[in-house]
Amino acid sequence: MQTGVIFSIEEFAVNDGPGIRTTIFLKGCPLRCMWCHNPEGQKAAPQPLTKQGRTEMCGYTIDSEALAARVRKDEDIFRDSGGGVTFTGGEPLVQADFLCEVLDRLEGIHRAIETCGYASEENFKRVLDKVDYVLFDVKIVDSALHKRYTGVENELIKTNLKHLCESGKPFVVRVPLIPGVNDTRENMEATAELLKGAKGLQRVELLRYHKTAGAKYPMVGMEYKPDFDEDAVPEIHDTFTERDIKLLIL
Ligand code: SF4
Repeated sequence: MQTGVIFSIEEFAVNDGPGIRTTIFLKGCPLRCMWCHNPEGQKAAPQPLTKQGRTEMCGYTIDSEALAARVRKDEDIFRDSGGGVTFTGGEPLVQADFLCEVLDRLEGIHRAIETCGYASEENFKRVLDKVDYVLFDVKIVDSALHKRYTGVENELIKTNLKHLCESGKPFVVRVPLIPGVNDTRENMEATAELLKGAKGLQRVELLRYHKTAGAKYPMVGMEYKPDFDEDAVPEIHDTFTERDIKLLIL
């Protein structure tokens, strides 16, 4: 049986897909976004986290059967609210084998992932086949700029986004609005172009940057070092509705 490492389970979540959901946070992420507000999700292994003078381990190992049982206990709530389960992180595709096994055990429940799309095409398609809904984070379209701010180039992400667009599966694109980094008209035009004609696309969400992003870094022995102006008001360019894409600014 597959085991995985998770660091949080949030019940009654209402922002991670339709209805009332249980959100599972898997550990490990191949990106290092300069604005990441879940730094405790980046490392794959459990790690100490110190809060208000108390140190606890962040992250634990669980097998697929136990995690599926934990999710299934709220099956009635999912059914009544049109909700389900969402896997996020970190980047849930880092633990693709474990994720696939848990998804198989949750057949019949509405299953979603939130992903940055940085995974092998094989793993992306394998997981895509098993989920009902995808929240796909698109950060920056220019690959060199993407590397500067997230640590990796984005060709793989764009390829996987193309697979998602072609799949017809319902999905939402989330763009974190980072002032002076990706809030330019050029980046928003390029983002909208990537999504043009995608049948399953329900909407684009632009997520305003919050200064609280850095709060957890000292708790896991990391330093928060944004090289952008955290106080700047982000530009909003609606390049989406003109292409018949619904836009939500949060
Ligand atoms: S992809 Fe998400 S979890 Fe990973 S570093 Fe970026 S913001 Fe953090």
